[in-house]
Amino acid sequence: MKRAAGMGLSAPVVATLLAACSGPERPNEVAALAPETETPIAATPEPSPASVERAIVSADPPETAASATAASSPTSTVAAAMPTAEPSPTTEPTAEIASERSDSLAAGFIYDERYLQHDPGAWVLPGTAQTFPFSEPVLHASNYRLCQRTKQLIDVTGLSERLVHIAPRSAALEDLTVFHDASYVERVRQICRNGGGEAGAGAPVSPESYDAALLAAGGGMAGVDAVASGAARRVFVNARPPGHHALRDKGMGFCVFNNVAVAARYAQRVYGYQRVMIVDWDVHHGNGTQDAFYDDPSVLFVSLHQDQLFPPGLGEVDQSGSGGGTGYTVNLPLPPGSGDATYLAAFDRIILPIANEFQPELVLISAGQDASAMDVLGRMAVTTEGYRMMTQRMIDLAETHASGRLVALQEGGYSEIYAPYCTLAIVETMAGTRTSIAEPLTQERMLTQPQTTGIGSDGDAALAAIRAQQAQFWTSMTG
Ligand SMILES: [Zn+2]
Repeated sequence: MKRAAGMGLSAPVVATLLAACSGPERPNEVAALAPETETPIAATPEPSPASVERAIVSADPPETAASATAASSPTSTVAAAMPTAEPSPTTEPTAEIASERSDSLAAGFIYDERYLQHDPGAWVLPGTAQTFPFSEPVLHASNYRLCQRTKQLIDVTGLSERLVHIAPRSAALEDLTVFHDASYVERVRQICRNGGGEAGAGAPVSPESYDAALLAAGGGMAGVDAVASGAARRVFVNARPPGHHALRDKGMGFCVFNNVAVAARYAQRVYGYQRVMIVDWDVHHGNGTQDAFYDDPSVLFVSLHQDQLFPPGLGEVDQSGSGGGTGYTVNLPLPPGSGDATYLAAFDRIILPIANEFQPELVLISAGQDASAMDVLGRMAVTTEGYRMMTQRMIDLAETHASGRLVALQEGGYSEIYAPYCTLAIVETMAGTRTSIAEPLTQERMLTQPQTTGIGSDGDAALAAIRAQQAQFWTSMTG
């Protein structure tokens, strides 16, 4: 792809932007934005960094020395423990350690500044290499800012102090070829080495994208390591480029390597989990992930998405898997404007009952926040509260069946203003806390969004049709 001059973000430019965008010193921000919680953070004016750390640590029940140290330092990194033997989900040698953690110290967060280096260039007219005409070019929708602003919000709210920070690693070729063709991986490497181009339809890459994409896939793997070893009970992977559209032999729709598919296969191969569940709440259908597991009953793939959005013709309610995997693909195409109420009803009426039958040993989320109320590419009107409540349902599900093991991987999300707050809400929920930072949508404005509190008749009909389709596979969907 030919990019508009000046729109590609070189490393120095990104570094400059990072410097310009970084917030003031954290202690003052913590004082200003501290949550109205039971902790003494907000009650202590102008705390010193040391007192902030003491307050946060002392507010929680006794911890192991290692986890308390990790949680008290936003810059500390805990390398996820690698398996040392043939692990089995039935042994779970570290599960008890994880269960002893307080909820506020159970969440891990994966991020690396190298994720920002993937540069899809300028936003172009669909199906062309032309930037939008008549005006100054704009950054591609899948630019670095969602990832960066999410990290900034997590730092500036003080939430970072409550997270276990885990380093991603680069996926190796054998990690990727559980789904991707080796020839495709090599092709991406060559395209990037030669200055960038297209890894597939709508999947622009820059020279730095190959390494970032390896690190994104490895981020999901590191998340799996963390929850399997007990380094964290649940993990959010703030990575890019995203992955759920990526196919076996080509990229697609901003995605290069299918991070969640790689993570699921890694979990099965290394930790022996028999049943892995993937819930994809990105507003677009997770077609690449569907392809990866379409004939496989060991991975239950569930996709909530805006009906007939992208990709065309995929994610229909009657696409339910094939062969031995029939019934293990569950598509929930929802009408535009569905909002919090329909999404939550989809969980309560369909996803959770099916999950209770499936009994996953590991739960993964393809967490695209492009179903948000302010998204550029979606029209679903989900608010931060909606994401909060969906996340809590996923936590409860993982606690019931999977000893808490839950890994969420960032997918799409194109409102620079709002999507980072949605991700913040997800990570807050995973950490069992809530900051008091002011959001772009106040509670009052949230209630004005479509179907925030009530399900529309079109949403009701869609959910009924999905239940009827799934009744042939799942007894909880009958009646
Ligand atoms: Zn999306």
